[in-house]
Amino acid sequence: MSAEDTTGGGRIMSREAYDVAVVGASIAGCTAATLFAREGARVALIERHADPNAYKALCTHYIQPCAVPTIERLGLAPLIEEAGGIRNGLVMYTRWGWIGGDAEDLPYGYNIRRQTLDPMLRGLAASTPGVEFMPGRSARDLIREDGRVAGVVVRDRAGESHEIPARLVVAADGRSSRIAKIAGGPVEVAPNNRFAYFAHYRDLTLPSGSRSQMWMLEPDVAYTFPNDGGVTLAACMPAKERLPEFKEDLEGAFVRFFEGLPLGPRLSEAQRVSRIMGVVEQANVSRPAARPGLAFVGDAALCSDPLWGVGCGWAFQSAEWLVDETAEALLAGGDLDRALERYRRRHRRELSGHHRLICDFSRVRPYNPVERLMFSAAARDNRSARHFHAFGARIIGVREFLSPRAVGRALWVNARHAARGRAKPGPGPAVARAGR
Ligand SMILES: Cc1cc2nc3c(=O)[nH]c(=O)nc-3n(C[C@H](O)[C@H](O)[C@H](O)COP(=O)(O)OP(=O)(O)OC[C@H]3O[C@@H](n4cnc5c(N)ncnc54)[C@H](O)[C@@H]3O)c2cc1C
Repeated sequence: MSAEDTTGGGRIMSREAYDVAVVGASIAGCTAATLFAREGARVALIERHADPNAYKALCTHYIQPCAVPTIERLGLAPLIEEAGGIRNGLVMYTRWGWIGGDAEDLPYGYNIRRQTLDPMLRGLAASTPGVEFMPGRSARDLIREDGRVAGVVVRDRAGESHEIPARLVVAADGRSSRIAKIAGGPVEVAPNNRFAYFAHYRDLTLPSGSRSQMWMLEPDVAYTFPNDGGVTLAACMPAKERLPEFKEDLEGAFVRFFEGLPLGPRLSEAQRVSRIMGVVEQANVSRPAARPGLAFVGDAALCSDPLWGVGCGWAFQSAEWLVDETAEALLAGGDLDRALERYRRRHRRELSGHHRLICDFSRVRPYNPVERLMFSAAARDNRSARHFHAFGARIIGVREFLSPRAVGRALWVNARHAARGRAKPGPGPAVARAGR
């Protein structure tokens, strides 16, 4: 802990000025703190939870393959694997059949429970030279100098306020970002017309083996994700018109939902080891990822419908992009605000196309012709399935997903399918093969 002076106003001013004050020690904040410190920055990592083992319970923790390079750069991949994290291949049910059952060697991400991941990440950040971890401190205000953010005011558990001056403040404080509220500024909100419930199970046998399963039921969606500790997470995200059914009898509705799935798991034969958790309101929220002296990473910048399991991966990635765009300016006395503007543009370039499509899908509407084309081709053709997977894994962007070549192949696959007059392939064998 750094030395501190008491100032007249009851606030305690840290004598030490930091290069970076990161608010929030979860995925985005720990990634940013670790990578900034490795570049030589002095980092204050501020977390409102006093317990270093605290974790985000409301998450189904399917980490997309797009985040694996960041996870590897952090040195986290071997730790995740040692802790029993699962390399997460996915097979997806659609009305045209299963996607991905026959595609081998697809890029993988990880399934790892947040109760395992969050303390691991926090330990990594806190043990990185240059990071001063400050648990049990909650960011309450921003310090401003000459119209620019110049640090953060935190309150400790005894109710005392501390000023933490820093050249750069990083808001990694999640979807309800207090820093964003204090800073003001534009925010875009798009409705999400599905709700989510999920629970953890032991001894749940899946026909897909260790692969995750996803059911696209138009409009309802469900998943099973095998995780570390022999625990499988089962989640459903139905359209909101079904909410009264779940409110009336949560456990009954949840189990019935899975019993009705093609090749669904038999929840009643497994042991539920968590309560059934859920979120009824989860609108899509986005805001510009930087302004002078202040950057937003992870959910604080962009919180997309959890249906597509992108938030954890984008929390890792956005923190890495921030460090890569700003560390040099921050540490070599360069133009930090210009570097922050570069980060803002990069964040928008990489993620806004994905986010727009996700927002549109959250409205709950019939599939559009492009979705019908790409889903059906992916269910009928391995090459189209690989392409589809690369998009769902957020390895490629919207433009590449809908490139003339990819759309041309999808049209050809469907034309060939129609010409052969084949019956739709049964879903059973595809999933059974995926499980081998
Ligand atoms: C139901 C549901 C299911 C999901 N499933 C998936 C999934 O399968 N895959 C996926 O990739 N994503 C999923 N997500 C999204 C994922 O949980 C988030 O995108 C991810 O946790 C974002 O990480 P973060 O570090 O930005 O923020 P968070 O994990 O929310 O962390 C914010 C941190 O900031 C701290 N904090 C907040 N305010 C303050 C303050 N004032 N002062 C100090 N500290 C503060 C908090 O204590 C916390 O540690 C899901 C979300 C929901 C709701």
